[in-house]
Amino acid sequence: MYFDSHIHSEGLGFSELKTMSSAGIKKAITLAFYPVKPLYPQTFVDMFRKLMEFETKRCKEAGIDVYPAVGIHPRCIPPKYEFVVNYMDENDWFAFGEIGLETASREEVEVLKSQLRVAKQNDVPCIIHTPRSNKREITMKTLEILKELSFPGELTVIDHVNFDSLEVVLKADYWIGLTVQPGKLKPEDAARIVDTHGTERFMLNSDAGFSDSDYTAVAKAARLIEGRLGSEADKVVYRNAKKFLRI
Ligand code: ZN
Repeated sequence: MYFDSHIHSEGLGFSELKTMSSAGIKKAITLAFYPVKPLYPQTFVDMFRKLMEFETKRCKEAGIDVYPAVGIHPRCIPPKYEFVVNYMDENDWFAFGEIGLETASREEVEVLKSQLRVAKQNDVPCIIHTPRSNKREITMKTLEILKELSFPGELTVIDHVNFDSLEVVLKADYWIGLTVQPGKLKPEDAARIVDTHGTERFMLNSDAGFSDSDYTAVAKAARLIEGRLGSEADKVVYRNAKKFLRI
């Protein structure tokens, strides 16, 4: 059994979800993202309801238990975003995500901090996006913010970590998400990283959904890691994500 710790199930068809399930991916976190800049903060309420009520049911029917993460992605900050943060504060969730910085603008920093404050107060695990451009620099800025807020390590996964940012993230005390996808890490890269740095802190994901991606990438990487590490691989391919989500 494999756990894909970061997908956007809304972007995947039912047959694709069934293929993932047949490849052994039986659990996944599906993350909030809105592909156009929302004009109203209320848009998020229905988006979160869709994830919690409809996507969980649809994925279950396809053979995957999905756990929704809700939040404001830095690329889709709505006007009056405080409304969304209050809604997040007033309800119960499995996790927040994806949240984080894209360009590290002042607004993005403010939105990230306000979501982290709510997460800390309510003890909610957070999946933190890091961008493609200026990966290392923006990852460092993100780590600074987490430190400034004394954000608990066990509640954080720094996601889309690659060879540019691995070293700085390893120094901090957070979970590490490895995204296996064309243009990000190859299955061999993920296997090599785990080989070198051990199985304790890593989890695998595909980020499959809205753009061209290999939605069975986690299963491919998982088989490689299992080939090298045997049952120890179970942490990276399944158990760490489960522990992080506390399910
Ligand atoms: Zn994503």
